[in-house]
Amino acid sequence: GVITHTSTVTTQYRGAGRVPVGIGRKRMRVVVTGGAGFVGSHLVDKLIKRGDDVIVIDNFFTGRKENVMHHFGDHRFELIRHDVVEPILLEVDQIYHLACPASPVHYKYNPVKTIISFVYINIWIVFRYSLCIKACFLFLCDGGVHGFTGISDCLRCIFMFSFYFDVLDILNSDYKTNVMGTLNMLGLAKRIGARFLLTSTSEVYGDPLEHPQKETYWGNVNPIGVRSCYDEGKRTAETLTMDYHRGADVEVRIARIFNTYGPRMCLDDGRVVSNFVAQAIRKQPMTVYGDGKQTRSFQYVSDLVDGLMALMDGEHIGPFNLGNPGEFTMLELAEVVKEVIDPSATIEFRANTADDPHKRKPDISRAKELLNWEPKVPLRDGLPLMVNDFRNRILNEDEGKGN
Ligand code: NAD
Ligand code: UDP
Ligand code: UDP
Repeated sequence: GVITHTSTVTTQYRGAGRVPVGIGRKRMRVVVTGGAGFVGSHLVDKLIKRGDDVIVIDNFFTGRKENVMHHFGDHRFELIRHDVVEPILLEVDQIYHLACPASPVHYKYNPVKTIISFVYINIWIVFRYSLCIKACFLFLCDGGVHGFTGISDCLRCIFMFSFYFDVLDILNSDYKTNVMGTLNMLGLAKRIGARFLLTSTSEVYGDPLEHPQKETYWGNVNPIGVRSCYDEGKRTAETLTMDYHRGADVEVRIARIFNTYGPRMCLDDGRVVSNFVAQAIRKQPMTVYGDGKQTRSFQYVSDLVDGLMALMDGEHIGPFNLGNPGEFTMLELAEVVKEVIDPSATIEFRANTADDPHKRKPDISRAKELLNWEPKVPLRDGLPLMVNDFRNRILNEDEGKGN
């Protein structure tokens, strides 16, 4: 069944009795926040396939109903439209916490638009701020004598309050979702005794001075840069997770995910694999940022899902690096896309973005040893698996535009 809510809901499961699935395994009741997104929807597919009850919480910020639509009508599946920044009451056994805005990528992808919208917001705030200073002045000097009357006074008051809402809007950033969202999910896990898994990121290592990165590395992060709402947001989320573990005895797991690709990736969030694949399909040049010599290590989504489930069901807290150690420069990645998708694809150089990490590659010895996990799909095999999905969505988009 499908339930869509805009506010807090309570689903009472206690006493429902869990049905044994297979030998030695109970059927789990699992929450996946961000389950309508790229990674979340693949995780949901696998959980449903193994017989679990799954509740997806998503506000559809970057996720899409289409990613989970094939489960509508299945009694083991529920979809709740909800922002994790708000508290929620549920009864489940496990919480996979993936919900997180992808906007830092948007910042990087479209800096000009971002700057323009910031300038616009600032002008609007200054304008309203000057009105509210004027309103206070009039109230103190004039209102004190003649009273607080008339429609213009009311309008001034509205301006004054809406100024504070603007400030709240700005505070309502990615950092807030990472912190408040994680706090709420940890509070939920504490209340109901559920196991909690945080999907952190390799970005906690920043522009790393250690290569490849082990989980013991503390990172090299700019705390005030354009990426810091994401990097520092996830670092704080890791801190909260460990605090709830130590202070409230919550069973926790932490995954540090390295760059992942596959079907259902957002077409336009500016990540390099989705950009190159979409550009190759659209017969546009692939945009290489900077000199293209920076490196990343790319993991196919099914490997990640296997790793997340092994971590959740295993005995170790982590953090664990989950990534494919196969390391590529962006120029090499463009070559592979050319080789497996379109031999006639071309490249075009663009200026790089601020604070772009120079290299990144996971050391996965800990996950190999303790989770018995390692990725199986090399880049050359994984890329062709996302082409059909991308081609169909690009075709639908073009038809939607009347092309
Ligand atoms: P995605 O954008 O496809 O998925 C995120 C989902 O969270 C979306 O469905 C979005 O609508 C939802 N969401 C965002 N803010 C929310 C909120 N306030 N309340 C409820 N839902 C909200 O991204 P993804 O690639 O699937 O990433 C999933 C998780 O994995 C994220 O936490 C991300 O930081 C982490 N991660 C991903 C990668 C990668 O390469 N894909 C790498 C490192 C870490
Ligand atoms: N929370 C939630 N669902 C629950 C329990 C808690 O969303 O079932 C939220 C709660 O609103 C709070 C956060 O989780 O904002 C942290 O909860 P905790 O009980 O740890 O802290 P407290 O409420 O005591 O500050
Ligand atoms: N990048 C690129 N062309 C693009 C998009 C990104 O060359 O069209 C580069 C980007 O500068 C970075 C790398 O690809 O060095 C990975 O970027 P992405 O945003 O995918 O991931 P992250 O930087 O978060 O690892």
